Amino acid sequence: MVIVCLSLVVLDGWRSWEARSFELGEMDVASSNLARAMTQQADDTFKEADTALVDIAERVRVDGTGEKALARLRSVMILRRQELAQLDGLFVYDEHGKWIASSTSTPLNKFNNADREYFIFHQNNPGLGPHIGIPVVSRSSGKRVIPVSRRIDKPDGSFGGVMLATIDIDFFSRFYNTLDIGKSGAVALVLNSGVMLVRRPFAVETVGKSMLGTALFYHYTSHGPVGTAFIKSAQDGVTRLNSYRNLPNFPVFVAAALSKDEILQDWWRDTIWHSTGVICLVAVVGLFGWNLVKQIELKARTEAELIKTRNSLEQLNLALGQLATQDGLTGLANRRQFDVALQNEYSRASRQASSLALIMMDVDYFKQYNDIYGHAAGDECLRAISRIVQEHAARRPGDLAARYGGEEIAVLLPGMAMDDAVALAGKIRQAVRDLEIRHTGSPTGFVTLSAGVDVRTPVHDAEEATSLLVAADTALYEAKKNGRNQVVATKSGLPSSAAF
Ligand code: GH3
Ligand code: MG
Ligand code: MG
Repeated sequence: MVIVCLSLVVLDGWRSWEARSFELGEMDVASSNLARAMTQQADDTFKEADTALVDIAERVRVDGTGEKALARLRSVMILRRQELAQLDGLFVYDEHGKWIASSTSTPLNKFNNADREYFIFHQNNPGLGPHIGIPVVSRSSGKRVIPVSRRIDKPDGSFGGVMLATIDIDFFSRFYNTLDIGKSGAVALVLNSGVMLVRRPFAVETVGKSMLGTALFYHYTSHGPVGTAFIKSAQDGVTRLNSYRNLPNFPVFVAAALSKDEILQDWWRDTIWHSTGVICLVAVVGLFGWNLVKQIELKARTEAELIKTRNSLEQLNLALGQLATQDGLTGLANRRQFDVALQNEYSRASRQASSLALIMMDVDYFKQYNDIYGHAAGDECLRAISRIVQEHAARRPGDLAARYGGEEIAVLLPGMAMDDAVALAGKIRQAVRDLEIRHTGSPTGFVTLSAGVDVRTPVHDAEEATSLLVAADTALYEAKKNGRNQVVATKSGLPSSAAF
């Protein structure tokens, strides 16, 4: 269950992560494409303005700056200004910053532009290529404009003035406002020197602001002219995916930035739905699994208890069995077991026509022993005698030594002949005598026993099993009568039927 739950969580986590990577990859492509389109638009815008300047330069070179020529030039400039939507104005200044011609209606002697950054730049740089200057507020129109300028050389190569095309910042703003970059998206047009030209969201104070020290500018200058990077904005704290790219013909670059949160918005919604589903599923599976485990535990516990109960019942049965068949004092078989065995062996002997021997033994003068040494000593004596009997008698399967009564012991020996039974009884008698248990009440001075032996081969259940008992007992009586501490056998040894 744990593995199933973990797999569900891991699989969903992995799927979500893949989806996130895919989403970010898609946005990477989208922001790169956006930057590429912006680059193209900006480059075209500057290029068109610069082309107008090249045209003006050519006219000035060919026609000179005579009064007539300037009048013609002015009408061309007005025409160009109307043709190109991005243009705020076209101007020509002499080497002192004095206005020579313009597309505007401002009187030529009203302003001097020698203080402008682009003018000073061209004064100090002999190159004739286009220059994009830092944004300024136009003196003629009052609008914020980006100056695109070229130097005019005198025939001797010295500085002869500046041609200027001003591009309305609104032109870029309008275009940037049409881009679909979400609520938190941003785009910017920046000079390679780090000066901000235009930005969306637009704010007046951002125009001309230095980008030096920003993460975006650092990335642009250190990672090459084209790239993407996740950058956290120092201004609003939003992390954005920034794509930047430089213009092919001008020292300017664009940056398109899409908010990471907005990019991942759909993904988040999707992931939350998924996670909720997985959590519910895991909860259901977990609950089910927990129940299952509890049930298995309960079953195992019940089984263990059943086994324990069965074992104790078996032990109890064994103990009860022993209690039912064993004599508590001596450990010999008890009278009940002896009676059953006698019946069984008698029947078996009659079926198999084999012999069955019985030795009956009785301790001599045992009453006196008890009287002299006490009942406890009597018990101990009985136990010692029982051990001797057990050692000698119960050697073959079917042999059985039992406590027949008080201090009487019976030994049943299936298949044993008279001679062997008498010999065995003699051995037991001798062994008991050899124990040398003191008994002052006995003429011998020691504990002894007497035994009566009977052996017969029952025929067809003609006789009762008790007849064997009676015969052995009679022999025992004989032994007692003859002076005790001896073995007497019945005189039969003949087929029992013949004995009667
Ligand atoms: P005999 O030689 O004729 O057998 O004389 P005896 O004294 O042994 O006579 P009997 O066999 O009649 O004696 C039985 C005595 O055995 C009676 C009783 O005191 C004793 N006895 C019987 N069972 C037990 C027993 O479990 N423990 C003890 N200590 N004594 C027992
Ligand atoms: Mg007795
Ligand atoms: Mg006795």
